[in-house]
Amino acid sequence: MAQPPNPYAALTPTEAESSGPFEPETLLPLINRALPLAQALPSQSPLVAVGRGSSGRTFLGVNVELPGLSPLHSIHAGQFLVVHLALNNERTLNCLAFSSNGSYFDPPCPHCCQLLQEIRNASSTKLLITDPSRQRDMSLSTYLPQKYFSLYNEVPKYFFARLLDENRNNGLTLINPNPIRDCLDSEICNHLGCRALKAANRSYAPYSKSPSGVALMDFQGRVYSGWSIESVANPILGAAQAALVDFMTNGGGHEFNNIVRGFLVEKRDAKLSHLATAREILNKIAHFSFILRVLHCQ
Ligand SMILES: [Zn+2]
Ligand SMILES: [Zn+2]
Repeated sequence: MAQPPNPYAALTPTEAESSGPFEPETLLPLINRALPLAQALPSQSPLVAVGRGSSGRTFLGVNVELPGLSPLHSIHAGQFLVVHLALNNERTLNCLAFSSNGSYFDPPCPHCCQLLQEIRNASSTKLLITDPSRQRDMSLSTYLPQKYFSLYNEVPKYFFARLLDENRNNGLTLINPNPIRDCLDSEICNHLGCRALKAANRSYAPYSKSPSGVALMDFQGRVYSGWSIESVANPILGAAQAALVDFMTNGGGHEFNNIVRGFLVEKRDAKLSHLATAREILNKIAHFSFILRVLHCQ
C-alpha cells in the first residue's frame, strides 16, 4: 500500500520555486498544512516556522509541548526548524518566517532568535514580518535582545559555521565500546549505541564543551537520532528533544509511546550532563517499557 505523503517533508527547490517568492500569500498553503502538526497546550497557540535554505529547499518547524512535562522541555518552532535543517544537512538559512495563522508573520521568541543566530551567516537571513509599521523583510539580528549583542560579537565566527555542518565530527570515542564491539560498519549500521555516538559527534556544544547525542528505536525497529545544540546566550536544545524531532518528521506520524529503547552518549565528566533531562522526558512520553541506556565517551 502506498505511504501517505510525509506532512513534514521539505519542499524541494523546484517545488519551492514553483510556489513563488517567500511571501505571505505563497506561504499560506504551507502554513495551513503545518498548523495541525503543532502540539500546543490548550492555553497556547500553534506556531509554524518556515525556513528556506541555501539549497533552495524549504523546511518546517512547529512548536511541540510535551504532555505532562514542564514547558522548559517544550520544543519551540524555531528550535524544531534548526534541528530539521541539521538533520537534512542544510547549511544556511536565507529566509525565515513564523506564523500562527498564515495571515500574520511575527518575529521569533528570544529563545528561538538566540539559537537561529548561531547559524552561519544568520545576519543575512531575511525574516518575514507583517507589521505595517515595518518593512517586510527584517534582519534576524533585529530581534536579538540587546543584552546579547556583545556576547555574540565575542564568539569566534567560525563557531557559527559548525552548527549546520554535516561534516562536523567532535572526535568522540566510547570509553567502553563493548555494547557495539560487533559492529562491522558504524557509518551505516542501525545500532543504537553507534547512532547515539554519531549524533554526539555532530553535537554543537562549543560553550559547555559537553556534547551529547541520543538515538531512539520504535516498535518497528526504526532508529531516530538527534544531538544537543547550544547558543552562547544559553538556551540549549537537548539531544532527546532533537531526536524527537527526527521521530516526528520521519516516524510515520506515530505517537511518542511507540518509542521503546534509547541510548544517550555524553562525556563521563560532562560539565553539563543531559542525562537527567533526557530520562525525565523520555520516561514520561515513551512506551512504559522504555529504557534509556548511557554510554560515556571521551
Ligand atoms: Zn521560541
Ligand atoms: Zn554499529
